[in-house]
Amino acid sequence: MQTRTYTWPLLAGLLLAGLLLAGLFRANGGNQLYQQQFYVFGTLVDISIWGLAEQQASEAVNAIANDFQTKHRNWHAWHSSPLTDLNQAIATGQTRTVQETSLLPMLKQAKQLSHQSDGFFNPAIGQLIGLWGFHTDDFSDNLPLPSPDKIAELVALAPSMDDIKINGNRISSRNRAVQLDFGAFAKGYAVDLAIEKLRQLGVQNAIINAGGNLKAIGKKGEKPWLIGIRHPSGKGVLAACSVSGEESIITSGNYERFREYQGVHYSHIIDPRNGMPTQGLTSVTVIDSSGARADAASTALTVAGLQDWHRIAQQMGVKYVMLVDEAGTVYMNPAMAARVQFLPEKLPNIVVSEPL
Ligand code: AMP
Ligand code: MG
Repeated sequence: MQTRTYTWPLLAGLLLAGLLLAGLFRANGGNQLYQQQFYVFGTLVDISIWGLAEQQASEAVNAIANDFQTKHRNWHAWHSSPLTDLNQAIATGQTRTVQETSLLPMLKQAKQLSHQSDGFFNPAIGQLIGLWGFHTDDFSDNLPLPSPDKIAELVALAPSMDDIKINGNRISSRNRAVQLDFGAFAKGYAVDLAIEKLRQLGVQNAIINAGGNLKAIGKKGEKPWLIGIRHPSGKGVLAACSVSGEESIITSGNYERFREYQGVHYSHIIDPRNGMPTQGLTSVTVIDSSGARADAASTALTVAGLQDWHRIAQQMGVKYVMLVDEAGTVYMNPAMAARVQFLPEKLPNIVVSEPL
C-alpha cells in the first residue's frame, strides 16, 4: 500500500488574512499583529495575536507551544505515552489510575461526544486505525492492505467508548478490544484549552490554528477575524467566513492523511460499522463554540455521510455544518450558508439542507 501525506505550505487550511510569516510583528495604525508558527501534533500550528506588546505576545505563544508539546507526548497513540500505558492496561483487563491530569477530562468529554454521535466518532477504534497503517510517522512505507478477516474480527469485537468505566481517576474497560486514539479530537480539545490559557495571560484577540483545527477569540482590530476554509483538494481556499466572540472552525479532510493502493484513495477516517475508510465526503467543516465538539463532530459527520449527517449534527448539538462530496458539491445547513462566502468565479454547486 502506498502512502502519502500532504504538508501543504498553507497547511492550516484556513488562511489567516494572508499573513504567513513566522514570528511576524507589525505595527499597523497603532495596533499589532504578532504571528508565530511551530510544529506539533504532526502538523503546523499557527498562532496570531492582535493588540499586545511583542514580548507579551511572544511569551504567550511560547507558553502554548510548551503546553502543546506536553500534550502531544501525553496523548500520543503509538509512541510510548500515558495513553499507550492506559491502552496496555485495557488490553490486559486491568484497571489503571490515571496520573496525567489532562487525560481524565478529555476521556469524559470524548465519551459523551461519542455517545451523542451514535459511535460514528469513536476514539476506541485505535486497533482499526493502526491496522489501516495510520499509526506511523513515516508515510513512505509500502504496506499491504489489511486482511478482510482481521478487519471483520475487530469490527465484531465492537470497541466503544461506552465500554470505558471511569471511577474517580481509575479507568477500566469491559471490552479489551478498546484502544484509545484521540486523533479525531485532541487538536480541537487542545485549542479550547489553549484559548483559555491565552485569556489568562491577558490575550483578548487571537487565533490558534492547529492544522485546520482553529479557534478564535476577539477581533483583528476593528474587524472580525476572517477565516479561509480550505478547498478539499488541499489547494487554496474554498470559502471565507468571519468569526465573532469565541468560535472554533474545524475541518476534517481526507486530503491530508490517506493511503493509496493501486490508485485507490483510502481515507484516514474509519467507519466503525464496517472497519473501512470512509468514502463519499472529501471534507466536513463544523463551526462551534467548543473546539472539542467541532472536532469530534467533523469526524463523526464524515462517517455519517450524506445520509445521516443532519441527524447526527442535531444529536451533537452543532449549529453550523458544511460538507463537500467527491463531485465537489457543497452541502450546508441554512445558518452555515448565511455565513460563508464563496468566490463568485469559483462558485460550487450548493445544496442547502433543512435547518438544524
Ligand atoms: P480528523 O482529522 O479530526 O477527522 O481525525 C482523523 C483521525 O482520527 C484519524 O487519523 C484517526 O487517528 C482517528 N479516527 C479515524 N476514524 C475515526 C472515528 N470514526 N472516530 C474517531 N477517531 C477516528
Ligand atoms: Mg475531528
